[in-house]
Amino acid sequence: MEEVGKILDTNKGEFKDDGKQLLDDYISSEELWACTSCNACVEACPVSIDPLSIIMDMRQYLVMEQSAAPSDLNNMMGNIENNGAPWPFNQMDRLNWSTES
Ligand code: SF4
Repeated sequence: MEEVGKILDTNKGEFKDDGKQLLDDYISSEELWACTSCNACVEACPVSIDPLSIIMDMRQYLVMEQSAAPSDLNNMMGNIENNGAPWPFNQMDRLNWSTES
């Protein structure tokens, strides 16, 4: 709000886009992926902004539009696609544990 106010002050009450965006200019992708989706911010927000929904939308944008998911996440998604599970093991080997002594 302070930055918007400064823009309005310098442009005689007219808002001019400064080209900044929420992602990267205010929130880094590292911060975005650090969220554990615990929902505490949603429950604590006094004006019902639902920050977690915004975080999920930005994550979705990074993955779907920028192909910029963290490498661990890409590995997991590749494993789900290939093995039907997040682990790098073939589906045919899943019950191997039952025959191990
Ligand atoms: S859901 Fe909200 S409070 Fe929980 S880790 Fe993510 S940003 Fe933080």
